[in-house]
Amino acid sequence: MKLFGSMENVNGVLHIGGVSVNSLVNTYGSPLYVIDRVHVENIIDTMKNSFKSDKFATEIAYASKAFINKAMVQFINTKGLSLDVVSDGELYTAKVANFPSEKIYMHGNNKTDEELRMAIEYNVGTIVVDSKEEFFKLSKIAEIANKVVNVILRVNPGIDAHTHEYIQTSKFDSKFGESIFDDSVITLIKDMINHDYINFLGFHCHIGSQIFDEKPFYAEAEVMLDFIKKIEDTLNYKIKILNLGGGFGIYYSGEDDPIDLDIFLKKIIEILENKLEEKKLSIEKVVIEPGRSIIANSGVTLYKVGSTKTTYSGKKYIFVDGGMTDNIRPALYQAEYEGVIANRLNDTSCDTYTVAGKCCESGDILIKNKNFVTPNINDILAVFSTGAYNYSMASNYNRLKKPAVIMVKDKKVNLIVKRETYEDLIRNDLDFEE
Ligand SMILES: *Cc1c(COP(=O)(O)O)cnc(C)c1O
Repeated sequence: MKLFGSMENVNGVLHIGGVSVNSLVNTYGSPLYVIDRVHVENIIDTMKNSFKSDKFATEIAYASKAFINKAMVQFINTKGLSLDVVSDGELYTAKVANFPSEKIYMHGNNKTDEELRMAIEYNVGTIVVDSKEEFFKLSKIAEIANKVVNVILRVNPGIDAHTHEYIQTSKFDSKFGESIFDDSVITLIKDMINHDYINFLGFHCHIGSQIFDEKPFYAEAEVMLDFIKKIEDTLNYKIKILNLGGGFGIYYSGEDDPIDLDIFLKKIIEILENKLEEKKLSIEKVVIEPGRSIIANSGVTLYKVGSTKTTYSGKKYIFVDGGMTDNIRPALYQAEYEGVIANRLNDTSCDTYTVAGKCCESGDILIKNKNFVTPNINDILAVFSTGAYNYSMASNYNRLKKPAVIMVKDKKVNLIVKRETYEDLIRNDLDFEE
């Protein structure tokens, strides 16, 4: 068990933001997503302090898909970060939360006409164009709207970092972006530069997610500056922005060896500065887009233990009142989490259990074969590091109501998303017509 931020063991009871989990569950029910505000703030401060240069401006854009709702967008705004959105829904949330539109990046590998129109109508700061066809589509929409749009192009730098190792390949067949090894990309960039309604600013790349090894990120930075140099020389055009994406790996469990953000971000800056000098290049701004590394470790999901079971073959289960509906990641890609019986941290009785949810799927498992104290009914089971890609991937399977989300700091609880009600579940249901 690893406690982050303000999480602490007070007389055997987990406290977050100075409040006991018993009190949180009594007041807000379960399952409950809890965000430790102190920890998010610490991470953001570390990122801001480490990712800066006197050679170029830096910007941190929160990849909102990791965890987005109105309050989170407002919180990110108070911290002075920019925002990444990948859909009309995320953009709409940013809009109603009054996020400054000039600080929004609009992503997506298949943006609809509607999404592009909406981005232009909302005066989104930068649209990240994914392909040649999207450029055609966007430029027409911009022309009709009579607005010049700021654009960066998503490129694929051929760095495959999906595993603990990385390889550089020109054939990497990701669905995202245009390859920097494909010469037609130069024609595309030229067309964008020459288009009256496109203000072409630079490049975006993102090499994967939950990457533990820093090397592919360093390679990405170097490869991108080589590419920028090539484009500037070939097209005699000044590239202003380089966006290096996110994907920084975090601790979930066991052997995970997370990226030390302070060391890593300073190193990226150093590599960029050296390479710029070596290439006699300059750049106005470098952007990173962390999602998971900002919010994952700050999240804890609290469940109530409903019952336990020992199967005929001897496997021991703990059943909780949520499951794959609030955390699909173990079922989706064997993600591993750590958990504890949070109201009995000092108990020593211990056994191996599998924590399963209440959904009608055998794969509805949150934690497999890990040690827990022998739980009692109504004990509180906490699963750690659920801040990213949990709430944002939550579903209503089996018509479970999505949990509430609270943000806690200094004993103050901020309910930021209400628990769904039965009424919410049938909101869009209409009557059968005979
Ligand atoms: C998902 C995504 C991110 C954030 O990735 P994390 O692993 O959550 O840091 C950043 N940029 C783009 C384009 C993405 O698709």
